[in-house]
Amino acid sequence: MTPLEHQFIDNQWVASASERRLPVINPYTEALITEVTAGHPRDVDAAVDAAQRALPAWQALSGAERGRYLEAFAEALARRRDELARVSSTNNGKVLAEAYIDLDDAIACYRYYARQALVLDERQGERIRLDMEGIEARCYHDPVGVVGLITPWNFPLVTSAWKIAPALAAGCTVVLKPSEVTPLPERAIAEIALEAELPSGVLNLLFGDGNGIGIPLCAHPDIDKISFTGSNRVGEAVMHAAADRTAGVSLELGGKSPVLVMEDADPEQAADWVMAGIYYNAGQICSATSRLLVHQGVAEPVYAALAQRIDALKLGDPLDERTGMGPLTSARQRDAVRGYLSLADQEGLVAVRDARHRTLPERGYFLAPTLYRDVPTTSRLWREEIFGPVLCARSFVDEAEAIALANDSDFGLAATVISGDPQRARRVGRQLQAGSIWYNSEQLVLPQTGWGGFKRSGIGRELGPWGLAAFLEVKHLVGPVDLS
Ligand code: NAD
Repeated sequence: MTPLEHQFIDNQWVASASERRLPVINPYTEALITEVTAGHPRDVDAAVDAAQRALPAWQALSGAERGRYLEAFAEALARRRDELARVSSTNNGKVLAEAYIDLDDAIACYRYYARQALVLDERQGERIRLDMEGIEARCYHDPVGVVGLITPWNFPLVTSAWKIAPALAAGCTVVLKPSEVTPLPERAIAEIALEAELPSGVLNLLFGDGNGIGIPLCAHPDIDKISFTGSNRVGEAVMHAAADRTAGVSLELGGKSPVLVMEDADPEQAADWVMAGIYYNAGQICSATSRLLVHQGVAEPVYAALAQRIDALKLGDPLDERTGMGPLTSARQRDAVRGYLSLADQEGLVAVRDARHRTLPERGYFLAPTLYRDVPTTSRLWREEIFGPVLCARSFVDEAEAIALANDSDFGLAATVISGDPQRARRVGRQLQAGSIWYNSEQLVLPQTGWGGFKRSGIGRELGPWGLAAFLEVKHLVGPVDLS
């Protein structure tokens, strides 16, 4: 495959100013698929300039007109669904069925914000209720301006959709920097922009790493806001860079989310939801429910049901429909997770299933699922985001202890509550400190509901009307009532 050494700026593919290239690897075969440019600050200058020039005309369009482009994005993704699911699976390592779920999520997101762009038209100029005679106040919503969007590698096309769709609906123009690890699926966004005849400069896509593109983008004086999804380490650097010029930031960061299994839960059903919450995408999910809190009365049957399912989970080719879990996305991520397994040895953790006791496929960045039980709350594996197929469990004696343990975390992205009594599940869920709480369910992510975290899991919300608000400035016009 020809190297990705061109950047998408002003609706054209232009050569990157950088000579530096990075490998793009198939994590199942470990083969080099292609190379991608590492990017250059001059690429950032050109893209920001294009986005600035495009802004006045784009923001002058009605929401309805902008929404039509988003609808075209959704249709183009739907047409290319099979091809892009395979590209995503090959570049990221996720099983094909999960790649299809990602595509459907992205399509739903573009459709949702096409509709929200229309709703925005209806909301412009809304009158505010006042306690004052003869004075009126009206509320308007203007785009934030030129926005920089930075995304990770675990959900290609999804994390970018969650930013691009609301940003364009709001009337912002965009410079997108996808992860250098998974550039192949994201390249389709630029192809779709061309196909949809999106005006030049409205959406610019820059390939590259943190040094080549990420850092100069965050520091660029003409970027009005950065919306970032990724690790806490980088998120904090992004926030520092934005602080230097009082630019806005939205941050979607890490998690260490709990799943609570109450004593009235069905252990077999609970085990299914626990499995999906941690071993989906080989555990590389920001909302992974990686801390299992299980009532002492059902702990043994739940551990047994999990062990059985872990043993049955087939590791292999992500494109083979019999495969339950693919490789991790990179050797780097696999090694980082292995580091935690060594740490678990040092800490003396007790494994119900240990990844290292299983024969792995000959090639690929595989790591078998691991389950530790009775993990102390002081363990680093209990407290830190591992971002791999490692589940830490401990039991509790009553509801109050379960809630206290669940909330005892630096993070607060998501949680799951499983109980035989839905009212109880809701009541417990209401007391958890997290942005998304599922009860008696797998992790349902819907464009209509907000996404984001409490505490160190981030700042702001994506999806729903909140995702749109993140790209809008609120403006009020106040003055005498016009009686003419
Ligand atoms: P990462 O922070 O290493 O990289 C994220 C993006 O930032 C990449 O595009 C990368 O090139 C870029 N980048 C790197 N250094 C930069 C810098 N100094 N300035 C600007 N940009 C820079 O994260 P990752 O390893 O790609 O993804 C894994 C992390 O993402 C996990 O911590 C996970 O929890 C988090 N995540 C969060 C959510 C959420 O919605 N909360 C969703 C997905 C992933």
